[in-house]
Amino acid sequence: MLKTEKEYSKYENRIDHIVYRPITPQKEFKLEISNGDHAEMLIQQMLNFFPEIAKNSVVLKYKSIRTSMACKPVLKEIFNKKRRYEIIINNDSKNVEIPFDEIPFQAKIGIIAHELGHVLDYQNKSVFQLIKTGLLYIIGNQEKYEKSIDYLTIKKGFGWQVLAWSDYAFNHSNASVSYLEFKDKYYFNPEEIKAILESDKKYKTG
Ligand SMILES: [Zn+2]
Repeated sequence: MLKTEKEYSKYENRIDHIVYRPITPQKEFKLEISNGDHAEMLIQQMLNFFPEIAKNSVVLKYKSIRTSMACKPVLKEIFNKKRRYEIIINNDSKNVEIPFDEIPFQAKIGIIAHELGHVLDYQNKSVFQLIKTGLLYIIGNQEKYEKSIDYLTIKKGFGWQVLAWSDYAFNHSNASVSYLEFKDKYYFNPEEIKAILESDKKYKTG
């Protein structure tokens, strides 16, 4: 059962024009958004929930890639003291299995939270460690790493949203079987996410 607006209000913490309800389980993540759910707007506002990330260290880019979104360090700045990280959004409806714009709101929050989870992880890595992570992708062995980012994102409080994203991808999207096999291998599927949520008392509904 979702808590009512009133019950939430005692935990409410206003940041700019966003209402953040840090209580978990956070089944409905609410953002007061005046300009729709455009990716830029959502990411900008989601950054408020990741105070560890410096705002100007994240850049957005639209590009046709294999997945709906991705995050990587800006390579030419990898040795700089202040690195930047690119969040790539794929809206190329002809070449993507799940275009970003087609993803429902809660699931969008889940996938964005996952990408910001990558930024949190990259921030703590040395250049050598970043290169090592990059190599995992080149050799197609990023399974443990992607799952660790899903896990980090769940522990950060976005478990229900990660589940919404996974559930949408696996059960409601038009993604092909081969894409879902790829997704099942590298990321947690809805059943695995549910098991994590059930074992975490933060997510237990009363
Ligand atoms: Zn990822």
